Amino acid sequence: MEATCWDCGRTVIDTRSYACPDCGGTIMLRYEGVRPDSIKDDSQPGLWKYRRLLPDIPESCRLYLGEGSTPLVPSRRIAKRLKVGELYFKLEGGNPTGSYKDRIAAIGVSWALANGRAACVGTTSGNAGAAFAAYAAGAGLPYHLFVLEHMAEAKLAQVLAYGAIVRKVKGFGTYPEVGDRVFARIMESVREYDWESTITAFRYNPYAMEGVKTISFELAEQLRGAPTSVYSPAGGAGLYVGIWKGFEELSQIGAIPCKPHMVAVQSAGCSNIVRAFAAGERVPSPGPSTSQISGLQVPNPPDGSAALAIMARGDGSALAVDDEEIWEAQRLLAEEEGIFCEPAAATALAGLIRAAKEKGGMESERAVCVISGVGFKDGKRLLDMVSHKRVPLLEADSLDI
Ligand SMILES: *Cc1c(COP(=O)(O)O)cnc(C)c1O
Ligand SMILES: [Zn+2]
Repeated sequence: MEATCWDCGRTVIDTRSYACPDCGGTIMLRYEGVRPDSIKDDSQPGLWKYRRLLPDIPESCRLYLGEGSTPLVPSRRIAKRLKVGELYFKLEGGNPTGSYKDRIAAIGVSWALANGRAACVGTTSGNAGAAFAAYAAGAGLPYHLFVLEHMAEAKLAQVLAYGAIVRKVKGFGTYPEVGDRVFARIMESVREYDWESTITAFRYNPYAMEGVKTISFELAEQLRGAPTSVYSPAGGAGLYVGIWKGFEELSQIGAIPCKPHMVAVQSAGCSNIVRAFAAGERVPSPGPSTSQISGLQVPNPPDGSAALAIMARGDGSALAVDDEEIWEAQRLLAEEEGIFCEPAAATALAGLIRAAKEKGGMESERAVCVISGVGFKDGKRLLDMVSHKRVPLLEADSLDI
């Protein structure tokens, strides 16, 4: 494993550097000597099957709670209607805490143990917090978490259930300067106390983020090859960059002949990457978030520039959908496929629906939508989703059917 700066190419040796010490650029890990037949080690559980393409972590420090090996389910009804040749849903809600963030936390907390860190520290809109809280509990490490003043109740409860040490911050999530101060304080404590950063972006922890690309390794295996396109929701864009990196590595090793086209789907209310992509720019366009989709409200996406660099290489594109289209996709998945996911996760399908309509069909495509989190995550939205449905109360001796 070698850590190099994506911007200036410098090799970074100190594992406490989360960004390039020279230019501040994003660090990416590289691996040598892996062949198509040595990608997988079937003696290991979960993500650790891919240990040769993950950070070096001794076996005694590797945590496993059942993450990874999530199902890939073919669409039975939506694909036909949209005229998509093949359409699959990667169900990341099957991970232990209900989202793909478990892949990051499994590697990140194991990495923290391997490096002798005394604690983990970070911030979350919900899912990353639950994931790191679970793995930190399993590792016996304290987990300090700074959260939004108005964090969703159910998400806060899940984090507390695992025993995380939580503090709410006044104005966090509303005022950008408060957010900047929280991030600065987290990175300061990381250096000062030798703690592990749990911010789920390559920009803030390129080691933990390696967990994301195991989605691509599993997809290539489940499909016996690469899909033609992958639709991924994008908030901070770490999920998008991680999946791309997985396919990039498989292609360099010679395990797949061509990489899929990677589509980042954002909520129109927080479409900083989409707007920059459309304008041919290399950094996300500034502007506040008006999106109501929990998990995608990221006005300064930390991996946005990396995502735009991937698109500039010709490996992907970005599109925005309205919150209403996201809720509609969530409803379609539940009522037409039997898949119950949270709105952020349904964003991938909302993007595919938009693309299929614009193209008038995608018969030759083999598309994957990354369904990043389970529906129970967003209790408030669940109640809104069904609030118009009436449930009659009957007498036992007059059961109308
Ligand atoms: C975190 C999260 C996202 C967004 O991932 P980014 O890396 O911030 O783009 C999407 N869906 C779910 C369910 C998430 O938890
Ligand atoms: Zn650099």
